[in-house]
Amino acid sequence: MDPRQRTAISDCVSKGRILFDEPLSRHTTYGIGGPAEAFFQPGDREELARILRLASQKNFPVTFMGSGSNCLVSDTGVPGIVISLADRLNDFHIEGGRVTAGAGVALGYLVRQCFQAGLTGVENLVGVPGTIGGALIMNARAFGGEISTYLDRVRTLTLDGKEQVYRREDLQFGYRSSGFHQDEIILEAEFHFNAGSPETIADLQERFLNEREARQPLKQRSAGSVFKNPASDVAAGMLIDKAGLKGTRRGDAEISTKHGNFIINCGRATAEDIAFLIKLAARAVKQQFGTQMELEIRTLGFQHGYWEDAGLDG
Ligand SMILES: Cc1cc2nc3c(=O)[nH]c(=O)nc-3n(C[C@H](O)[C@H](O)[C@H](O)COP(=O)(O)OP(=O)(O)OC[C@H]3O[C@@H](n4cnc5c(N)ncnc54)[C@H](O)[C@@H]3O)c2cc1C
Repeated sequence: MDPRQRTAISDCVSKGRILFDEPLSRHTTYGIGGPAEAFFQPGDREELARILRLASQKNFPVTFMGSGSNCLVSDTGVPGIVISLADRLNDFHIEGGRVTAGAGVALGYLVRQCFQAGLTGVENLVGVPGTIGGALIMNARAFGGEISTYLDRVRTLTLDGKEQVYRREDLQFGYRSSGFHQDEIILEAEFHFNAGSPETIADLQERFLNEREARQPLKQRSAGSVFKNPASDVAAGMLIDKAGLKGTRRGDAEISTKHGNFIINCGRATAEDIAFLIKLAARAVKQQFGTQMELEIRTLGFQHGYWEDAGLDG
């Protein structure tokens, strides 16, 4: 990006924040990732729409992020403009069972607010990091409950600055997947929840948090599960464990000894280190059990075809 292009971007931003060559390691739960050419946190929707229109006029690549809790960003970083909504566009309203939340609202905040209002539905997602936008793209799910179940409507913005509204049934939610177009950013979502017993919700939350703590390496940096489970009764972590790979290290990256589907950053791991272990696990599982693994995490900034030698779609 040359200085004139940087000035054109900066000129669009007055309420939000624009940073050039910003290390994305500061914006991912892995603590890994090279620089974004431009890293933009919008002040409001109008500013976001201005930046999207500029990007589409000037052909700048655009990448959306929430809080980076499901992302592996390459060491070389991401070209163009990375737009992060974590803690931005975070209006929140509850009225009866109806909840409207901006895409940048933390999922944990939604869970807490529903609990305080005596609403049931999202208690299963307690302890899942991320934003509402990221949770909808990934259709975040835990302990049998998923975020899309309670969704009524979603408002998005296209690259040419047009707002779209989708009803739940317009979007094909599936296992860690949704039907949003790649060139749309989620702005806001409306949910409906039913009234529930605060005691039951509190008990369930405690149980889910304890189970998480017991099963997952929560003290180390990660992006959650790396691979999707190949089938509802076949866990990716179990296959990695059976392949004898738990505890395998490369640099400061490790296939967790606690959970085979978590590849953790024990200190100064690079994206290359994590990617090495991802490919190793995918190849070993394919070779030993004939199962082709599929990535759950989203990979940003890797060369086209980077993952192909392990049969993965990055
Ligand atoms: C310790 C740990 C435990 C986890 N446990 C679970 C779990 O139990 N269940 C589960 O489902 N997930 C889990 N995750 C994964 C992750 O927390 C969820 O997928 C979360 O919903 C991602 O939200 P995010 O805002 O961080 O999204 P990001 O990681 O920033 O982005 C994820 C994807 O969404 C896109 N995106 C983000 N925001 C927007 C937006 N506003 N508009 C358009 N696209 C957008 C990005 O481009 C990217 O493709 C876990 C992660 C960690 C670190």
